[in-house]
Amino acid sequence: MIIKSAEFIISAVSAKQYPEEGLPEIALAGRSNVGKSSLINKIINRKNLARTSSQPGKTQTLNYYKINEEFYFVDLPGYGFAKVSKELRNKWAEFIEDYLSKREVLQGVIHIIDVRHPPTGEDCMMYDWLTHFKLPTLVVATKADKISRGQWQKHIKEIKVKMKLPASQQLVLFSKETGQGLPEITKWIEDVKKD
Ligand code: GDP
Repeated sequence: MIIKSAEFIISAVSAKQYPEEGLPEIALAGRSNVGKSSLINKIINRKNLARTSSQPGKTQTLNYYKINEEFYFVDLPGYGFAKVSKELRNKWAEFIEDYLSKREVLQGVIHIIDVRHPPTGEDCMMYDWLTHFKLPTLVVATKADKISRGQWQKHIKEIKVKMKLPASQQLVLFSKETGQGLPEITKWIEDVKKD
């Protein structure tokens, strides 16, 4: 994918603020700090367009990035921030569920997991939602550079088992440091935004 332009459009706090011109959207979901912004920045080849999070869980916004005047990346608010109140957590769930279930231009979701750690209950819940809403999903296991190559398969297997991924589910191992996995991820985006 050749990136001709990439611009930040809006941090939307409600559905009223979502762009209206009908361009396809690819959303990114994952725990706070898992590396969503880093993946966006890597794909668009910028150091810092997508903000790398400072206060995870505090701001519940959908961040829209317009790519090549052709589609949007939508950075969903991260989950799994321990200090967030139950009330805020419920609001988060409602906001995301609404977006995932009702947004007609949503073409697919990149679900990012930290390859170093077993997936959490919230990781599993998010994947269940994506399956439930029948959204084309790419699972990306990130931070591959942080564990040794010999550990990769063991960790990937644990992710597959814990999240009950069907054999048909595509999973890509990624690292923002080495760029491994990037070609598969951009290929998936190219395919899914056409559907
Ligand atoms: P977000 O909250 O999901 O947007 O996460 P960020 O993109 O802000 O990443 C959180 C932290 O993880 C930052 O310090 C990143 O530099 C680091 N990080 C993200 N991806 C990788 C990766 O592939 N390898 C390594 N070593 N660090 C990463």
